[in-house]
Amino acid sequence: MRKNLFRIEQVREHWDRVALEYDRINEGFSWTHTERFLTMQKFFPAGDNLKVLNVWSRTGSAVKYIKEKCPDAEIQNLEASEQMIEIARERFPDEDFKQTDLHDLPCETESKDVIVSLETLEHVPDPLHFLLECHRTLKVGGTLIMSCPPAWAELPLRAYEKFFENHGEGPHRFLKVSEVLRALKNCEFEVTHHRGTVFLPVGPAKLKQLVEKVHLSLLRFIGFNRMGIRHFYIAKKTTSRDPVWAKIHEEIIRPGLCMHSGTCIGLSKGTLKLSDPDGKCLPELTGIGSVPEICYEACPEVNPSEFPSSSMLGEYKRIAIAHHKDEGVRSNAASGGILTGTLVHLLETGKINGAVVLKMDETRPWRSVPTIARTREEILASAQSKYTVTPTNVILSELENESGPLAYVGLPHQVLAIRRLKEMNHPSVSSIKYILGPFFGNELFGSSVISFLRKFEAKKEDVTSLSFRAGQWPGHMEAHLRDGRVVSMPKFHANYLIPFHITKSSLISHDLTNELTDISGGEAWAPVYEERGKGFSLLITRTDLGDAVIRKMEEAGKLELSEISEDEAIKMQSHGLDFKKRGAFLRIERMRKRGKRVPDYKMTPPPITFKRKAFEVILDSIFWICSMPLSRRLADLTPNWIIGPLFQQTRKIWKASTKRIKRSGL
Ligand SMILES: Cc1cc2nc3c(=O)[nH]c(=O)nc-3n(C[C@H](O)[C@H](O)[C@H](O)COP(=O)(O)OP(=O)(O)OC[C@H]3O[C@@H](n4cnc5c(N)ncnc54)[C@H](O)[C@@H]3O)c2cc1C
Ligand code: SF4
Repeated sequence: MRKNLFRIEQVREHWDRVALEYDRINEGFSWTHTERFLTMQKFFPAGDNLKVLNVWSRTGSAVKYIKEKCPDAEIQNLEASEQMIEIARERFPDEDFKQTDLHDLPCETESKDVIVSLETLEHVPDPLHFLLECHRTLKVGGTLIMSCPPAWAELPLRAYEKFFENHGEGPHRFLKVSEVLRALKNCEFEVTHHRGTVFLPVGPAKLKQLVEKVHLSLLRFIGFNRMGIRHFYIAKKTTSRDPVWAKIHEEIIRPGLCMHSGTCIGLSKGTLKLSDPDGKCLPELTGIGSVPEICYEACPEVNPSEFPSSSMLGEYKRIAIAHHKDEGVRSNAASGGILTGTLVHLLETGKINGAVVLKMDETRPWRSVPTIARTREEILASAQSKYTVTPTNVILSELENESGPLAYVGLPHQVLAIRRLKEMNHPSVSSIKYILGPFFGNELFGSSVISFLRKFEAKKEDVTSLSFRAGQWPGHMEAHLRDGRVVSMPKFHANYLIPFHITKSSLISHDLTNELTDISGGEAWAPVYEERGKGFSLLITRTDLGDAVIRKMEEAGKLELSEISEDEAIKMQSHGLDFKKRGAFLRIERMRKRGKRVPDYKMTPPPITFKRKAFEVILDSIFWICSMPLSRRLADLTPNWIIGPLFQQTRKIWKASTKRIKRSGL
């Protein structure tokens, strides 16, 4: 759940301004106003001397209804607007009203039996923080009674405000029902009731109540609870917050630092699972058991500088342009087939009995999933780059029972977690002997595949197979559909998806060349190789173990390889290196200035000129504009014969005009 752009001062200003008129205006549509209190009463738990938090309390109207349910309730009322508080104090001189910023609630931990929060969440600058605070404040077994309008209510509200006297909503964002439900779950609430309320905003009281009754009957009989212009969420705090999950959630996921490695899920013993794999693709609680501490300790975003990077390319033994000599391996791979070729070599020479790789899911073929490939055919079938987010390390749960030895292929942050677990002698990685990995410029959310398919009037459910690099290098993105069609786009055209669907983790990671592997491979991007087609890789051996494997393959005549210097490799990858080794630091710096939590790589970036900084502002603006739903929609509507070539040409011009800025000082 993202933070809102408005500040609490702006919220206060609005409600201070309308405070004097607030109660009078609400009398004009009293049923609509009162309905929230009556519904709150229905869910109010039985009990004496209940300690109740009423947040926010506005002019105090809820007090009367709470007292009707629990006459000796001890109510703490919190309100954002000073003017509202003054009116409330006049109305209820014996009650306690205090000001709040709706951020850190001035209440002791586990001190309340009930929290009543009506029509508040939509005005909170940081709604998730507010819900976490509610969870902290409630006693175990306590109840949160919360109401707020759903996202779609924005339009009816606008129409209503045009024709009837109203106090306005001030700064707000109506939240999607699914967003609220997910946030409650992530804050470890158990939602016991959820229902929408349909009411007529105007008309005779009897008619309004009739509509409400009919709707409630519909709810009861056909589970119609997504409808309704006001939604009630009744949630229980069943346990104190899981301390490990709280750390993962607060330090990594909530600030947007999750790299989607899957490590915490793989080590969680079933306490965490993947949510929304085609969307945000983040870990979430299953609600079963306590999250083990190792899930936090092994997260690559916790202490990301554990293995500091020493140079542009990291530690290495040799750098070369290479390709596998077996045309079957090479033509089926992303570039020169060196990663797949190495895995096949290790398997066929008995060095491993399997390899952790990515394959396309059999039941949902638009998604990639990790697997242990145990035969040559399985390794070949898993070749090629998968550019959508895939948390490979979820497979760690399966590896504890593996005798190995295994090879492992992963992206830089996934490899970092594996290296850390190896340092800890953790059983989940003891079977992994060789660590390989592709370079990592960026990866995309699953929404990129959906956008690609929309261009061909297809949906993900229509896909029977999907490949990101089919055919001759550099290949094309290609989907086979149930209706027999094969739809595709050249790789350089399909790259238009990048600015629209790039993950945040791609923007703040600094490791392009997968520096912690034994062997890593990228594309040999240079006109001389691109013209020849067929596929050439930039190969880097980094450890004695990795270099020995490549030497054996050379001796066996399996690889065509010609060594190049570090400078040549840097020149070849200057675009990506600049994006990672300079761009990531500029983006991180910007986040830091905005008070956000950021990864500390403990590295000094190469010199950054004023021109380079200016260029970053343009790039960031492009990413920001493209990430908006409207921009994505427009991109989806633009025919692929326009958007693909247009993107390719623009990128060419952009790369040529920024080449000098990027290369200088690398
Ligand atoms: C997300 C992503 C971004 C990349 N960005 C760049 C870049 O900016 N610049 C560049 O030069 N190269 C980049 N590459 C690397 C490039 O696409 C090739 O993977 C690399 O050249 C090796 O080619 P190959 O023919 O040896 O690989 P192949 O022989 O085709 O083998 C690829 C291996 O990697 C595994 N794999 C594929 N996708 C993933 C994934 N997402 N996570 C973990 N394992 C995976 C496959 O299962 C297979 O085992 C990227 C790759 C990926 C996956
Ligand atoms: S371990 Fe990986 S998936 Fe889990 S929070 Fe950390 S980066 Fe995200």
